Amino acid sequence: MPRRKHESLACWGNHPRYDCESARPETWHALDSSCADSEVSSVIARGLGRSYGDASLNQDAGVIRTERLDRALRFDEDTGVLEAEAGLSLKAINDAFLPRGFFPGVTPGSAFVTLGGAIAADVHGKNHHTDGSFARWTEAIELLLPTDNGAWEARWVSRDQDAELFHATLGGMGLTGVIRRCRVRLKPVPSAYIDASYQRVANLDEALEGFTGAFGDRTYSVAWIDCLTRGDNAGRSVLIGGEHAPTDSLPGELGTDPYAAPKPKRKRVPINFPSIALNPLSVRAFNACYYRTSRPSGRIEPAREFFYPLDSVLEWNRIYGKRGFQQYQVVVPFENGAAAVRTLLDRITRAKAASFLAVLKAMGASSEGPLSFPMPGWTLALDLPHTKRLDALLHDLDAISVEFGGRRYLAKDASLLPEHLPTMYPRLEEFMRVRDRVDPHRRLSSSLSRRLGLDG
Ligand SMILES: Cc1cc2nc3c(=O)[nH]c(=O)nc-3n(C[C@H](O)[C@H](O)[C@H](O)COP(=O)(O)OP(=O)(O)OC[C@H]3O[C@@H](n4cnc5c(N)ncnc54)[C@H](O)[C@@H]3O)c2cc1C
Repeated sequence: MPRRKHESLACWGNHPRYDCESARPETWHALDSSCADSEVSSVIARGLGRSYGDASLNQDAGVIRTERLDRALRFDEDTGVLEAEAGLSLKAINDAFLPRGFFPGVTPGSAFVTLGGAIAADVHGKNHHTDGSFARWTEAIELLLPTDNGAWEARWVSRDQDAELFHATLGGMGLTGVIRRCRVRLKPVPSAYIDASYQRVANLDEALEGFTGAFGDRTYSVAWIDCLTRGDNAGRSVLIGGEHAPTDSLPGELGTDPYAAPKPKRKRVPINFPSIALNPLSVRAFNACYYRTSRPSGRIEPAREFFYPLDSVLEWNRIYGKRGFQQYQVVVPFENGAAAVRTLLDRITRAKAASFLAVLKAMGASSEGPLSFPMPGWTLALDLPHTKRLDALLHDLDAISVEFGGRRYLAKDASLLPEHLPTMYPRLEEFMRVRDRVDPHRRLSSSLSRRLGLDG
């Protein structure tokens, strides 16, 4: 009998929150029996719950928490290929492998993300335009899949072995099997530092232009936009670029051991903030302060500070209070993309939905995953406090995105309507065919998959 407990769970946005039957296996045997637990109607895997909405929730059904299956199993220094259990976090990888000169090929804006979560969401980072998404760095995946006799079987998939299932798993939001192990390629880096540059620009046009120049050619590039400014200053931004710093660019004392960067100091948000603390005035003040104090210069900074600025404040999601928040992330094709971004920002500003700085970035080629989010275009992401009116605003934003040929990121989503899914993800049928083949009885299901009609 697998061990499980009744637990109220939410993801990073703290909205929605559902009662789930959760198991936290520590061995493969326990993982297998949690998957095969006939007393729950379905199961979904969960990493560190850093998706924002309902992707790793399963209301009144099984959630398999993988964070204790987190062993690094094998590492090949010549190829950079790491074989590990799916619950290993990028933070643990950075702690162990950055001192040896290796870094994840792609990292999202938080290191508190597991390998399973990174594969299932096909995550992207500030280098999407140069290095693609996590799919490009994933060599093979071992999946646990249901069988007709109620037991689950393990199967390795890769580009050479059931490529269709391999690709569907990249961005498949955990619906094509529970990932037990994987092989991912880390990249060799010259130091644990980033040669970073910061540039302020006065409005959205200048920000978009920035990505076409030298700044856009940098391996890592992103813009933080103040989306509460209006008129000539609408969309004023700070452009942030970076390269892995070669040893000879490091100031004297750092150059002696280029991989010995200081561990980031972390603070914790002690309580859920009251909801009145966040309002257009306080957020406007924060954004203005960020814009003014951003040093327009280059500097050498520890990679972990450059990639994960928010990780230094543990549980920062509590500033949104008990009601939580949603992150809206969309990508719109470059063609008419500037008009799309402007229309979206304008709609948000008019709604007076208080939002801290939004993130804007140019994305490169898509991966092979039929449900993978990234595609060539502009991606815009912003956090919005949850209110009664928020879903209506997000539905308006979805309608605008669809009009411009855009799509919403499922790892951030808690409110997309199912009718938009086939337009946003035109390879949806391909994905569903794979699901029908490997899990016809829908033993794998989540609150997200039911909300979006992905269970068929
Ligand atoms: C501060 C912050 C910044 C972020 N920045 C970015 C960013 O820049 N780019 C980006 O792409 N994302 C970003 N994210 C989102 C995050 O990277 C993804 O949501 C990621 O999937 C979270 O991983 P997790 O381990 O917490 O998985 P969870 O949130 O627990 O689950 C996410 C999905 O993965 C599935 N899953 C997890 N483990 C397994 C497994 N073992 N087998 C099968 N499926 C599994 C779940 O079922 C679910 O569908 C950010 C999140 C935060 C909080």
